[in-house]
Amino acid sequence: MSSRSPITAISTSIVAGAILACTTISCLQSPPVSTSKDAQIQQTNSSPIESSPHICDISRLERDVAFFASDDLAGRGLGSAGLQTAQNYIAERFRLLGLKPAYPDKSSSGKHADYFQEFTAHGYPATANVIGILPGTENASSQAIVIGAHIDHLGTDPQLTGDQIFNGAEDNASGVAALLEIARLLTNWRVDLKNTPNSLKDNPTADPLALRTIIFAVFSAEEVGLLGSQHYVRNPVTPASATLAMINLDSVGRLRDDQLYVFGTGSAQEMPSILDGLSQAYNFNLITQSSGIGASDQNSFLTTEIPAIHFFTGPHEDYHKVSDEIDKVNFAGLERVTNYASELARYLAYRHRPLTYVPGSKQQQIKIEKMNKKGNRKVSIGFMPDFAMESGGVKVGPVFPGGPAAEVGIQTGDIIVAIDNEVVDSLIDYSTILRDHAPGDTISLTIKRGAESLPLKVVLQERK
Ligand SMILES: [Zn+2]
Repeated sequence: MSSRSPITAISTSIVAGAILACTTISCLQSPPVSTSKDAQIQQTNSSPIESSPHICDISRLERDVAFFASDDLAGRGLGSAGLQTAQNYIAERFRLLGLKPAYPDKSSSGKHADYFQEFTAHGYPATANVIGILPGTENASSQAIVIGAHIDHLGTDPQLTGDQIFNGAEDNASGVAALLEIARLLTNWRVDLKNTPNSLKDNPTADPLALRTIIFAVFSAEEVGLLGSQHYVRNPVTPASATLAMINLDSVGRLRDDQLYVFGTGSAQEMPSILDGLSQAYNFNLITQSSGIGASDQNSFLTTEIPAIHFFTGPHEDYHKVSDEIDKVNFAGLERVTNYASELARYLAYRHRPLTYVPGSKQQQIKIEKMNKKGNRKVSIGFMPDFAMESGGVKVGPVFPGGPAAEVGIQTGDIIVAIDNEVVDSLIDYSTILRDHAPGDTISLTIKRGAESLPLKVVLQERK
């Protein structure tokens, strides 16, 4: 990719400052993490904006992930009290930051902000997206930016022996913690821009107050089929034509070997060079996938013709398992991803030109519509795909011990090229075929391992 990004120059100064400050101040002086709910809410209330106003605060990330992933919230399952507690906590944080509520106050006193976009998807309990707005200015382009992350997870499974709670520290306490920190950084940045003399600004020639509106959207019902984000794009704060781009943070807490996955880089013509320019200052090894179609909320935006990217720190064996716990979160990595995503949002907020949306191929759009019509996938083969492979089959990532794939000897690196003699070119084909099956069904797989082609039969298990 090109290193001649148009934004490298402005971004490097901001980034260098942020990194320097992060290693010298906030990161070395992190207060101890408390896991008590009351203590956390108290800490939150006492210091919404006062500390580390412009640099990522790792202690906040630790505290928020600990809160969302605590046993008290019982896995944040759809319709649960734990999910509601998490949503109230997010709304309170939005209020403390001074984000504008997206919806009219429905209380009788008229004094309560309303950040909840309530909805009921057919067959599921009522729930809500939590949405706060950092308003832009009249001078800026009218297109807003959406930063999204889902808060719901898998709840509990009473049939399990031992640990029964899907705490979802990575999926997606990590993404929501990052979103809250980005909201704080951008709010402070905005306040700072208003008060700083022109001569001290990163870009003194730009209109100091010009800034796009930034919409922070914490989605619900993602785990049952992206329902919260689908509801949002049908009932948006700003219509698709007035939305510049969406940044999705889903599972960003397991950075390894500096590998940051970015899906959807091809959805805007300018995105690869923007990301490339920014990542140099962060030393990320970006693994990009042009089509953003994956298993998260960016799908809803891409199918509405909004450029959208998904940040992800890579597949691992604890995906959708009770073992997705906080002790496996790499907070230093999460801090880097948060700074990077925040820097991207800041660049996009300042960028006055629109992005050029690149539609997915017609054929792919037809495939996605067909897949979505089949409803949610209920079965699993017992591995996590390697999402970096876009076509030519589905590459096997980590294989879950004891699952169907492990039992029949499927290995990491194998490529599934057909299921029941139907060609599997991509994850969309794979997911579409599996949506026709129920747990206990037997399917035939054709697997490529090096030069070999292996036929294998596998019994599908229930997908968690
Ligand atoms: Zn997720």
